[in-house]
Parts: sequence; C-alpha cells; structure tokens
Amino acid sequence: MKPARFDYHAPTTVEEAIALLARYGGEAKLLAGGQSLMPLMNFRLARPAALIDLNVIPGLAYIHEDDGQLQFGAMTRQRTIEFSSLVRRRLPLLAEATALVGHLPIRTRGTIGGSIAHADPSAEYPAMLTALDGSVVARGPRGERMLTPAELFQSYLSTSLGPDEILVEVRLPAMPAGAGFAFEEFSRRHGDFAIVGIAAMVVAAEGQRCTSARLATAGAGPVPTRLRAAEEILEREGLSEPVIEAAARRAAELVEPDSDIHASAAYRKNLTRVLTARALRRAVARMGGR
Ligand SMILES: Cc1cc2nc3c(=O)[nH]c(=O)nc-3n(C[C@H](O)[C@H](O)[C@H](O)COP(=O)(O)OP(=O)(O)OC[C@H]3O[C@@H](n4cnc5c(N)ncnc54)[C@H](O)[C@@H]3O)c2cc1C
Repeated sequence: MKPARFDYHAPTTVEEAIALLARYGGEAKLLAGGQSLMPLMNFRLARPAALIDLNVIPGLAYIHEDDGQLQFGAMTRQRTIEFSSLVRRRLPLLAEATALVGHLPIRTRGTIGGSIAHADPSAEYPAMLTALDGSVVARGPRGERMLTPAELFQSYLSTSLGPDEILVEVRLPAMPAGAGFAFEEFSRRHGDFAIVGIAAMVVAAEGQRCTSARLATAGAGPVPTRLRAAEEILEREGLSEPVIEAAARRAAELVEPDSDIHASAAYRKNLTRVLTARALRRAVARMGGR
C-alpha cells in the first residue's frame, strides 16, 4: 500500500514547525518515528495534506533529571529510554514497560512524544504517564502549557492538543527509592499491543504498611485510567494477599472497557483483575530492592 500524495516539510526549529501547522489549518501531521502514522497513511486511514518532520529539529531528544523529575524531549526514541541508566535507576517501571513496546525496530524509531500524542489506549507510555503522575508540555503559537494525563487524553486516539500545538516534553517524577513496581500485560503475540496492561507501584513503611499505591490501566477503556479506589484499599489495609485480591476485584469494577475484535468487555474486565493481582504481587516482592 502507498500513502496518498502529501507535501513534505523538514523544519529546523519548533517555531517553524508550529507556523507550518498553522498554515495547513489542521490538515498537516507531525512526523516523529512514523511507527503509527506511516501504517495509517499506507492504509489510507490518514490522508494528511502535509507531513511536518520533527526529525531534523535539534534539541528535541534528551533525558534530563531536574529536582526529582525526569524530563524527556518529545523525540527521545523508545530504545534510548529502554537502555538509559538514569531511567533504570530513577524510573525502573518505565524501563520495564518500554521493553514491551512492539519490537526492537519499532522502539529504535518510535518516540515517547509520538506514542503519547497518538494516545492509543493500549499503549504502554500513556499508561506510564498516568501511573507515574506525569505531565506533558505543549508548545503552540500562544506559548507553552502543561497538561496532566486527565487533561490530555480524551478518548481513543484523541487528545486535547490543538492542531497547531506540538508536544515538546514529557515530565515524570522519579520513583521513590525502595518502591516496588511491575508492569503486567497480556497480548496475543510477543510485540503486539496489550489487550490489557496494568502498571503498579507500591511504597511501604514499617513492614507491610502501604504509604502510597499507584495502579493504572492500558487497554481497559478509551483512555488510560488511574484506579484510585483500588489504590485506597492498599493504602488503608496493607499489602497482604487477601488485600491484594480485594484491590484487584475493585480494579475490575472500576474499568469500563469496550468490546472489539480482540476481546470482549467482560474478558478485559477479568484481565484487569488477574493482571492487577499479578502486578501487585510482583511489586510487593520487589519492595526495597533498589
Ligand atoms: C507492528 C507495530 C507494533 C507496535 N506495538 C506497539 C506496542 O506494543 N505498544 C506501543 O505503545 N506502541 C506500539 N507500536 C507503536 C509505536 O510505539 C509508535 O512508535 C508510537 O505509537 C508512535 O510513536 P512515533 O514516534 O512512531 O510517532 P508517529 O507515528 O510519527 O506519530 C504518531 C502520531 O502522533 C503525532 N505526533 C508525533 N509526535 C508528536 C509531537 N511531538 N507532538 C504532537 N503530535 C505528535 C503524529 O502527527 C501522529 O498523529 C507499534 C507499532 C507497530 C508498527
């Protein structure tokens, strides 16, 4: 399959890219790693009038730590994140989830900004942004604004980014030392998108008392979701096996998945329960291990 005709631009600054977006009035698409956009164009499910290539703009790919927060330039490749020693040390949950994004060639080209802007609810990075309480920085003709996951993700493949805005940075607070973590997902074949994925992080003091729990979904609804009521069970009642089971049952009640060709809504709910328990058990076993 070949894409429909399109104009091609390779701006060298973000400002130039924003001006081009404005010039095409919502009919242009930004090109990052191309790993989602190009298949859509080849199947003619997307027919942008123009591609605005972000790949030659310098300074959009970096990983910095500033005041307990990791900052990722939007064009940072997934593979760079997977092998970053800083990410492994400060955000091991992200390192674990990144290894599950597609296959090696996809991660070599795919970017963190592209994955989050694409907003596939089954993707790992939107779930990471949600689980880790992150935010994104969007830049447009009126300057920069910061968006939380709840403000950014609107529905399947849909965000609140304006047609003339570029996601320029992803910010994720570093995980507390000693936090237990796990990302569990179920997919039919290695490298496929998850049917459901669950990110878990637990922090405990004095043995089993849980001071903070995080649970977030991928693939269990139109947007990634924090499972706050399930987290509260863990924070209130601890991290014993019966409490983990109770939190997992609550997690399944909280999600509202749709049925599609891959799985029914009921199956996805059941997966949410099973994977939440699995992720929590692995997270608890890892606590204090960093
Ligand atoms: C076979 C296959 C399997 C895959 N499996 C998985 C998987 O298991 N998990 C997973 O998460 N992903 C998977 N992917 C998708 C992959 O992770 C993509 O890299 C990612 O979804 C998009 O990132 P990209 O950099 O390639 O963006 P692109 O494809 O270039 O762009 C995607 C969309 O985001 C927009 N965009 C890109 N960058 C920006 C920006 N900075 N600001 C605003 N908008 C922007 C584009 O205009 C486009 O609409 C798979 C892809 C393939 C082909």
